[in-house]
Amino acid sequence: MAYDDSNIFAKILRGEMPSFKVYEDDKTLAFMDVMPQAEGHTLVIPKFPAENLFDLVPDYAVAMALTVKRLAPAVKKAFDAPGLMIVQLNGSAAGQTVFHIHTHIIPRAHGLELKFHAREMADFSELKNHAARIIEALGESA
Ligand code: 5GP
Repeated sequence: MAYDDSNIFAKILRGEMPSFKVYEDDKTLAFMDVMPQAEGHTLVIPKFPAENLFDLVPDYAVAMALTVKRLAPAVKKAFDAPGLMIVQLNGSAAGQTVFHIHTHIIPRAHGLELKFHAREMADFSELKNHAARIIEALGESA
């Protein structure tokens, strides 16, 4: 299927929609998931028009992986998370709902159930605070 640049992440990349940004470089952008499955749920997207991993060119796949690798310790630290779930869904059959490829970084803890996927909108002031915590942790690890 052809990439549809009216998807929400394409709009965020073009600056047409706001996001709570935590990191950006020339090939990737990372921001808070607006309907987090756990506190600190962060998304990493490549600045490349691909729906999924099958369409993504290798250098942007590498860039996305490197940004995940860079952010993961900061998310872990910011939310004092004993574990992190890092997932990337390809196609509606896999549960993908936004058709610009992205990787989820989700803090996990024993006994803490995940919230439903893409269901409940978080409070924006809370998301702003969570983004600030990750940015601070990133600064400490730089
Ligand atoms: P997918 O189901 O495609 O793997 O994940 C899409 C993710 O994007 C979901 O976790 C959902 O909560 C999140 N999401 C949907 N719309 C928006 C939005 O407008 N802004 C942000 N920051 N996240 C969104």
